[in-house]
Amino acid sequence: LKSATALVSAILAIGWAAFLAPGVPRRDTRVSLVLVDHETRQPIPGVVRIRASKSLTPTNLTSRGWGLDQKTPIGEWLVLPGKRSIDLPAQPLVIDAISGIETGSSQTDLDLTNDARTEIEIPLRRFSRVREGGWACANTHLHLKDLTALEADQYLKEIPAADRLDALFVSYLERAEEDRTYISNRYPPGRLKHLESGGVVVSNGQEHRHNFGPQGEGFGHVMLLGIKELVQPVSIGAGISKKDPDWPSIGTGIDRAHAQGGTAIWCHNHWGFEDVPNWLAGRLDAQNIFDGGSHGSYEDSFYHYLSAGLRIPFSTGTDWFMYDFARCYAQVSGELTPESWLGALRSGRTFITNGPLLEFKVDGHGPGEALDIAAAREFKVIATARGRLDFGRLELVKNGHVVETAMTRPEDGHFEATLSLAVTASEPCWLAARITSDRKNEYGSVLFAHTSPVYITRQGRTVCQEPDVRFLMTQVEFARSEIMARGKFDTDSQRGAIIGLYDHAMVDLKDRLARRQSE
Ligand SMILES: [Zn+2]
Repeated sequence: LKSATALVSAILAIGWAAFLAPGVPRRDTRVSLVLVDHETRQPIPGVVRIRASKSLTPTNLTSRGWGLDQKTPIGEWLVLPGKRSIDLPAQPLVIDAISGIETGSSQTDLDLTNDARTEIEIPLRRFSRVREGGWACANTHLHLKDLTALEADQYLKEIPAADRLDALFVSYLERAEEDRTYISNRYPPGRLKHLESGGVVVSNGQEHRHNFGPQGEGFGHVMLLGIKELVQPVSIGAGISKKDPDWPSIGTGIDRAHAQGGTAIWCHNHWGFEDVPNWLAGRLDAQNIFDGGSHGSYEDSFYHYLSAGLRIPFSTGTDWFMYDFARCYAQVSGELTPESWLGALRSGRTFITNGPLLEFKVDGHGPGEALDIAAAREFKVIATARGRLDFGRLELVKNGHVVETAMTRPEDGHFEATLSLAVTASEPCWLAARITSDRKNEYGSVLFAHTSPVYITRQGRTVCQEPDVRFLMTQVEFARSEIMARGKFDTDSQRGAIIGLYDHAMVDLKDRLARRQSE
């Protein structure tokens, strides 16, 4: 063992020598490194970046960019689950530290050439207040591949905690042949208590989807979470299963998930055909955006749905590996469990973010709530965004349009923007707060944050804007014609069941327009 250790040290020394060129390599010093909460002084998990002439990677810390392109900014960060001993070279170093998105950052300058310290404690100050209000954050879309079973366990135990998630929903995903490397598929549906560490609640669901080609657009993807057993078929259509017809619908799977108490989240923003029919039919519980890939922004989906009179809880996740801080905060009452979190999500008490934390109130009512008016009325709107990085602007959005903006100001180690104004509503509408930024976070993703809306109805009547209803009609028509042209069915009744969804959606949209025109 001794010689093995010596050998490892020798290799490390050569490794450091490479990092430290052109200096003379000196002996490494073993130090214990820990992040602590500024107030309580208790250890907290987080990530660190150790900079010398370039980023250094002590071999016993996991890369935060595990499974991802190591050349991107996330690859510079290392997971520090708690107090860890690491070997550092004797040379000037800078240790950057962060812990999720609710604390400030810290920069520690260190030179072990003359410094006899063997314990380095880095305090991080929390600036966010959302936790006091019962807000808990989750990633609702995650799969892992090309890891061993042990590595997948380690990933799920260390990385969600280091990013300070409160809940994580992994999901099972079938893709003929390719899914042999999908290591997260070996977890059974339900809560995965053996993977829970650092206070993160972990649960496994499934991705339910249809493709026409291996990667092309099809009926779409949903997450079925909080399920007790897998809904079959997990993946629909020959494009992904290499055997089955383009039947049944995603909606059928959603109904089966609901029958066992599950929650259905549409994935990838507007990607896929069955989003509009399922939203109109009241089948979907929430909508994901920025959960892997590039599938447009809020204007391509959320804003059309909302302005057509639908209620859409906002959600997000990361799909393959946690490449970002992207998360959905939901206001949970009582104990945090996968079920209580999903219940809060369904009610729309949510906001999504990969950085700034949002607070939003309309006459004291938060996201997901509805207020009814009998006549034109004034509402007091208060929105606040707090973030570690300068995110630029906070915006109030009414029916898809920005009606007020506040710029950030520096505040004691973080940035804040606040809106406080009176908004008059005479007609039904929806209001939400968001940030708009071109700034990237520490992992290299452009900052985003958006609340679910507060809904204002007038004597029970919801907002219904004709251009948005007509936009959804064109989407339904396009989807129907694509499926008529490309769908492969074993029987006419299968075709009828699928096409019928789109016909129903069209009837619903025409009804909405007729009602709008008769008002
Ligand atoms: Zn996925």
